[in-house]
Amino acid sequence: MSTKTTSVDCPNCKKSVEWTDENNFRPFCSKRCKLIDFGGWASERNSIPGESVYPAIEDEYDQ
Ligand SMILES: [Zn+2]
Repeated sequence: MSTKTTSVDCPNCKKSVEWTDENNFRPFCSKRCKLIDFGGWASERNSIPGESVYPAIEDEYDQ
């Protein structure tokens, strides 16, 4: 059985985050980081509707 979890770096604080169904804030580590980052880039480049700013999660992240 493949239960390998994928980890991503929180776009805000760069903390390693497990990409799971329970993580409602992915790719962020917490609600706080999600709100901070969202507010940050939304105010700077709110002219990019629907564009994903995150890399594909299939990639392995080595850090
Ligand atoms: Zn974070």
